[in-house]
Amino acid sequence: KQVANILGVSFSTRGFDETVAHLVDRIREGKQTHVVTANPEIVMLAKENRPFLKLLDQAYVVPDGIGIVYAAKWTGEPIRERVAGVELLEALMAAADREKWKVYLLGASPEVNRLAAEKLSERFPGARVVGYRDGYFQRDEEQRVVQDIAEKQPHLLFVAMGAPRQDEWIAAYRDQLQATLAMGVGGSLDVIAG
Ligand code: UDP
Repeated sequence: KQVANILGVSFSTRGFDETVAHLVDRIREGKQTHVVTANPEIVMLAKENRPFLKLLDQAYVVPDGIGIVYAAKWTGEPIRERVAGVELLEALMAAADREKWKVYLLGASPEVNRLAAEKLSERFPGARVVGYRDGYFQRDEEQRVVQDIAEKQPHLLFVAMGAPRQDEWIAAYRDQLQATLAMGVGGSLDVIAG
């Protein structure tokens, strides 16, 4: 079974390596994917927020955090392993390095965003960071941000604006963005910037 139900949210049951391989295949095939790394907070939010649950139904939801793995154990669902956000980001960057993919980094403070772009470019020189911008733009700049991403057509779009906002943002603009894989990465850019 490839999907497990945890309190109404459908999770991928693939382990870490399998998830990476599956997502890489999807990107190679040009299949648009919105990845949500969901922890127990996200599951709780989905219980009381219908639009957010609908959003998750259309996303590729991976179990971020041991809490989801335990919840799966108690309910007998076949999730073996956590798929954590930062690690998934790094594994996808390693693939981008090999495949010369275009990458766009959206979110975090201007300083963190710039540093994260620098560090990722150093570590994964084959990946092309085609755009980066902080996550503190105004509402009236929203369309410009979307347009910039759409023009650059990144294979990978990482959005670090905190959950659930980052995922609502991706879902809202998904059809316009022209990003093959988009993923909310929470505080990952802060971690990478060091
Ligand atoms: N952030 C942002 N714009 C905002 C609010 C937050 O870009 O309007 C960034 C913030 O700088 C940080 C990330 O989003 O880099 C959120 O990290 P946090 O650890 O709060 O997210 P979580 O992992 O809890 O979803």
